[in-house]
Amino acid sequence: MHSKIVIVGGGAGGLELACKLGRKLGPQAVTLVDSRQFHIWKPSLHEVAAGTLDVHQEGLSYPMLAHDNGFTFVYGPMQALDEAGRRLTIGPIYSGDSGQREQVLPERRIGYDALVLAVGSVSNYFGVPGAAEHTISLNATEDAERFRLTLLKLLTQAELRKSTRPEAGVDIVIIGGGATGVELAAELREASGVYAAYDFHRLDAERDVRITLLEGAPRILAPLPDKVAAAALDLLRERAVTVVTDTRVTAITADSVTAGDVVYPAQLVVWAAGIKAPPWLAQLGLPVAKSGQIEVDGHLAVPGHPGIHALGDCAACAGPDGKPVPPRAQAAHQQADYLFQAFMRQHQGRAPQAHPYVYRDYGSLVSFGQTTTVGSLMGSLKGLSWFVDGLVARLMYVSLHLMHHRAVLGTVRTGVLALARFLIKRSTPLVKLH
Ligand SMILES: Cc1cc2nc3c(=O)[nH]c(=O)nc-3n(C[C@H](O)[C@H](O)[C@H](O)COP(=O)(O)OP(=O)(O)OC[C@H]3O[C@@H](n4cnc5c(N)ncnc54)[C@H](O)[C@@H]3O)c2cc1C
Repeated sequence: MHSKIVIVGGGAGGLELACKLGRKLGPQAVTLVDSRQFHIWKPSLHEVAAGTLDVHQEGLSYPMLAHDNGFTFVYGPMQALDEAGRRLTIGPIYSGDSGQREQVLPERRIGYDALVLAVGSVSNYFGVPGAAEHTISLNATEDAERFRLTLLKLLTQAELRKSTRPEAGVDIVIIGGGATGVELAAELREASGVYAAYDFHRLDAERDVRITLLEGAPRILAPLPDKVAAAALDLLRERAVTVVTDTRVTAITADSVTAGDVVYPAQLVVWAAGIKAPPWLAQLGLPVAKSGQIEVDGHLAVPGHPGIHALGDCAACAGPDGKPVPPRAQAAHQQADYLFQAFMRQHQGRAPQAHPYVYRDYGSLVSFGQTTTVGSLMGSLKGLSWFVDGLVARLMYVSLHLMHHRAVLGTVRTGVLALARFLIKRSTPLVKLH
């Protein structure tokens, strides 16, 4: 099998690129490889974890997206690169658990003329003892689902214990006060009220579902303007989330988190304190930065390795000011757009783009449950930003997700899907209970 452009990773950036190129060049010329069978927009994973978004309703199947957008989909994890032969190795797929594994798809090789690596990121535990073993991160759908099922189990156990032990409850510790940690804390608080109302009548959500957010920096949402961080802190405190800043986590066990001199009881711990590139990228023979990300130049090409590009969280790309492009969905989206233009110019026999990719920060929006959003929007003047909240901020937050869907599904289907989901949300439980 040989395809001209092979994109590995169908996430926020890679999937948009595959859809755009597929619609222009067709399945013979464009292949997408992903280790999963369906796509979820990663910024919604905190909703999956809290149970307010059903992963089976939200997920978009790659074979369907491939059929509708005109690319070829290959299911399996990329494992190795043969640069001289311009081929990738895609690992086998197994069914069942580790006890009874059965091979469903064998190892495969795919040829390429141009390769785009867009495989995202994994958690960076910074060597904190117990972090890898005892925390759940929100880097993949499976993690978010595992969190949700563990939360349901803990709520059930707390409900049963409540009649004999009045202090019974669930202690959740979120490590990392960036956007992921803050959004998860708020979403969990809202969801815990719904869980208590539906099924856990002995539990008082605010009193018995105890949520603590630990942040190492002097304030939460460190990269965002002070006003946004202050508004976010007020909203979290209103929702009875305990926020502790300027504290370093030093150890995590199965039932506790130690930070400084304090030991926090913790039955469910979320690691949202940092990401890094997937470690296997460093084995490919490509240049990598300290963070493990693949180094790319201003055209998102890997210097000295013709035909290979990287984008999104797994790429180390510096702006004209030398600052690294942040690992964000809006950067992955812009980079996908830049590479789309580059490949189309190549296909049409036009000269390559003269201008390099420049990251444009449009601002940041932080969601607090299903109704509240705060954030900042960047103006065209350098450094100037506006605080936004209320309905405007909420509509803008929702529109980001819709814009991603529009890029992969088209305008009409995105509209129909948005309407269908609006109606489904009003006829099904507000949180997923099974
Ligand atoms: C809870 C949460 C909230 C967020 N909120 C925001 C936000 O509000 N705004 C914002 O800009 N950013 C946000 N982000 C960050 C944003 O989600 C990421 O920066 C963005 O998804 C990166 O896109 P990507 O295409 O590089 O990788 P991803 O979207 O992570 O996609 C990577 C893809 O690669 C696939 N893959 C991985 N390994 C392999 C392999 N070996 N072989 C084949 N396929 C592989 C994965 O299955 C996945 O489909 C948030 C992140 C989280 C977790």
